[in-house]
Amino acid sequence: MQYISTRGGIDPVSFTEAVLMGLATDGGLILPRAIPRIGSETYNEWKDLSYKDLAFEVMSRFVDDIPEAELRNLIYRSYESFDSDEVIPLVHHGSLHIMELFHGPTLAFKDVALQFLGNVFEYLLEKNDSIMNILGATSGDTGSAAIYGVRGKERINIFILHPHERVSKVQEKQMTTVMDSNVFNIAIHGTFDDGQAIVKSIFNDLDFKEQQSLGAINSINWARVLAQVVYYVHACLHISNHENDKATDFSVPTGNFGDIFAGYIAKRMLPEGTIRKLLLATNGNDILTRMVQDGDYSLSEVTPTSSPSMDIQSASNFERYLYYLLDEEPDRTKQAMTQFAETGSINLTDFQDQIQRDFIAEKATEEDVTATIADFHKEHGYIMDPHTAVGMHCALKHQRKGIPVCCLATAHPGKFAETVEAAIGQTIDLPESIQNLMDKESRCELMDADRNLIMDFVKKHAKHG
Ligand SMILES: *Cc1c(COP(=O)(O)O)cnc(C)c1O
Repeated sequence: MQYISTRGGIDPVSFTEAVLMGLATDGGLILPRAIPRIGSETYNEWKDLSYKDLAFEVMSRFVDDIPEAELRNLIYRSYESFDSDEVIPLVHHGSLHIMELFHGPTLAFKDVALQFLGNVFEYLLEKNDSIMNILGATSGDTGSAAIYGVRGKERINIFILHPHERVSKVQEKQMTTVMDSNVFNIAIHGTFDDGQAIVKSIFNDLDFKEQQSLGAINSINWARVLAQVVYYVHACLHISNHENDKATDFSVPTGNFGDIFAGYIAKRMLPEGTIRKLLLATNGNDILTRMVQDGDYSLSEVTPTSSPSMDIQSASNFERYLYYLLDEEPDRTKQAMTQFAETGSINLTDFQDQIQRDFIAEKATEEDVTATIADFHKEHGYIMDPHTAVGMHCALKHQRKGIPVCCLATAHPGKFAETVEAAIGQTIDLPESIQNLMDKESRCELMDADRNLIMDFVKKHAKHG
């Protein structure tokens, strides 16, 4: 399998080159040259596979430069850290199915991809006898999942910036209580955007990047998308056992368009009619909802909500979908993205029919989120987190009679206990890993949001090959 850039400016690369490249060197995003198709016969043979074996079958369609036994081993190790034997359990309420993606070490769906990416990095560095210093900024969930993905790995150091006192207590503790010597937490006086801007500017210093062997772990890495494709296939197989092979809708709480883009790949990969529609759910930060409903992809201000991991305007994975929308023509993609960088908007009204063939979109207000958590708890005794509720709101609104819908549950409710408890009017049981956090020792540098200070710190503590 060869990989190309959405902007057409790189020679085709292998899977492992794509993983190490992260963002394509021409500024575009990396995609497989062609999406593999799975016939019904193969699909039916997958019905009894465990999650790990299914992950191998799906991923090996996209990876041909890691020997099979090694790929299988990487996958097995990645999902051993999950607290459920099924890895990703499904809960059924009639024709509504909830896919619980939060059984990994940091209790949010990002573990599914970052446990895998951490192991792939380790494997590749070992093979090339090299090292990597990962640098990233987080608003909460990504940082902890990334730290848990690489903690204790010999060839990797990780530096994660988070905004001081602007992440939740659980998120802060999850990051700062990891005592492995390769983990460096930096709390900055400033916002997430300040952290993000510093990281971007450091990556733009190509000499520094090379000298310090900097690596990125953000949501544009192809390996992250790939790991997420697997659970859509897994859900389809399980739901079709329950629902006599009917086409399924998926409802996906969306921020950076990463998770739902994995669903789009799965839809194109599986036999026609396996996935019907992708329901794109946003909170009040609704650029993507406007894109689907009105063809209006234009930036506005980010407003804070109770689903903070989706408080995003510019969706970093959107360019991947745009490439398909524009008939896989890199020049047009590049032109559209240049226009977006200059004007903050792309007009997609001419593409409405095409977009709505695959997507339905809905936004949830803060009141919708609270009401959804409360009502669903009352009716089914099931407690969901605010991100999941954004998706559930959309699913309930657009559910069609006779069509199964699968809601992606992206975080454990205990991770956002305050909002959840306020909604249902009672306290909830916290998972053990959260209960223990508060008493644990933690370690973190507090620094000004100053690029040079951060660079000095990284340089001082970086691993060198
Ligand atoms: C990151 C995140 C999302 C959004 O996922 P995207 O891939 O950015 O669309 C949703 N829910 C939770 C809990 C998250 O951490």
